[in-house]
Amino acid sequence: MIVTKLRIGDANTMMAEGGIQAADKPNDSPAIHFLDAFGGGHFAAKPELVAKLVTKAPEAIQWLNKLGVEFDKEADGTMVTTHGGGTSRKRMHAAKDYSGAEIMRTLRDEVINRGIPVVDFTAAVEIILDKNGRAAGAVLMNMETKQLLVARAKTVIIATGGAGRLHYQGFPTSNHYGATADGLILGYRVGASLLYADTLQYHPTGTGYPEQIFGALVTEKVRSLGAKLVNIDGDVFMHPLETRDVTAASIIRECTERNKGVETSLGKAVWLDTPMIEYKNGEGTIEKRIPAMMRMFGKYGIDIRKEPILVYPTLHYQNGGLNISDTCATDVENLFAAGEVAGGIHGRNRLMGNSLLDVIVFGRNAGINAAAKAKETAVPSKLTLDHIEKFNKELEAAGVAGDTASPMLLPHYARKDM
Ligand SMILES: Cc1cc2nc3c(=O)[nH]c(=O)nc-3n(C[C@H](O)[C@H](O)[C@H](O)COP(=O)(O)OP(=O)(O)OC[C@H]3O[C@@H](n4cnc5c(N)ncnc54)[C@H](O)[C@@H]3O)c2cc1C
Repeated sequence: MIVTKLRIGDANTMMAEGGIQAADKPNDSPAIHFLDAFGGGHFAAKPELVAKLVTKAPEAIQWLNKLGVEFDKEADGTMVTTHGGGTSRKRMHAAKDYSGAEIMRTLRDEVINRGIPVVDFTAAVEIILDKNGRAAGAVLMNMETKQLLVARAKTVIIATGGAGRLHYQGFPTSNHYGATADGLILGYRVGASLLYADTLQYHPTGTGYPEQIFGALVTEKVRSLGAKLVNIDGDVFMHPLETRDVTAASIIRECTERNKGVETSLGKAVWLDTPMIEYKNGEGTIEKRIPAMMRMFGKYGIDIRKEPILVYPTLHYQNGGLNISDTCATDVENLFAAGEVAGGIHGRNRLMGNSLLDVIVFGRNAGINAAAKAKETAVPSKLTLDHIEKFNKELEAAGVAGDTASPMLLPHYARKDM
């Protein structure tokens, strides 16, 4: 049974734009992919997780392709691949700049076709344990009526995604409305450890202007296709396809220490020279390869084929998360985790296209292992929430107890001063 806080597809996956990595071309290999991902993550990832990610990648693409994902292809059927930041080979597979929506469309059909029950608008608010401390279900909350429900389960997979809507350090975010770190809290409270949950990814190119789409993502694919980052003097101040953390830091430095940003109504930003794409690849490339970007800015009268756009880093991704093994098991028996909520796959900085890959590789992996574990697990009898008492005592002892309810579930945007 899939339980989801909003509607199925109200998710970061649906919004993914640029593509999914897999080393499946003759000049590439999973070993080279490994080096790119491991180095890009500052050598902090768990090597066994990166190894699984890269070796299962070609198969993941084939699986999606067979299910019906419409990847960009040449006339002879060869997959079109491009570079992403920090990649030493062109291995980004995409469906224009709607890659996530296309994957989600296909997988959602699959869920319906296989008759998997889906419960919408129902959030998990607490994991339930059995008397032996194993995960045995979850307390759920109907988002409309606030009614609490109990789901009893032999195994549980947390796949709640990221945390952009917590707006760390006051940054805008590219994330969907429900990205409030719920899974970290659910897992942590029952004793699952976290791995570098402090490392958040600020995507270099969030929209800097206009205000209506401030922080919305400008996919890295724009730079893959040749757009350059340019300061107020018209100077290209860095290589556009450095890893994300390096690029974001460079843009922030350009706007602060070097004072070379362009003043907007919302602060400072730098130019992303989109007309360069048409200049380099020929007229019509933008409409063909990144139509979503063209449409997003077109709504505000900005034709990205003819004029550059303003960008500034936006809060994008949770690099760390629940500590998992290569079977997606957390520290708590019968509790699994997959996707952005999990930590250890990307180290302290994820490369473009490795998250869509991670949700497919580790999502399938978690499903297979949780199903196998369920077969050898009896239906849990006595359910408990004793861990909450224990957790509250720990908060008190640490002097951090308060009245903040968690998980947050939705961001609070109402202005309390009005
Ligand atoms: C704009 C954008 C563009 C991106 N582009 C790319 C790209 O091109 N390539 C790439 O590799 N990665 C990209 N990413 C990152 C990637 O899409 C995500 O990291 C990944 O899809 C996350 O998948 P997930 O299944 O872990 O989480 P999600 O897809 O966010 O799904 C989590 C689901 O859990 C639900 N949920 C949350 N809390 C609860 C709760 N308490 N109870 C029940 N349900 C809950 C949410 O509502 C949501 O439906 C992009 C991300 C964004 C935001």
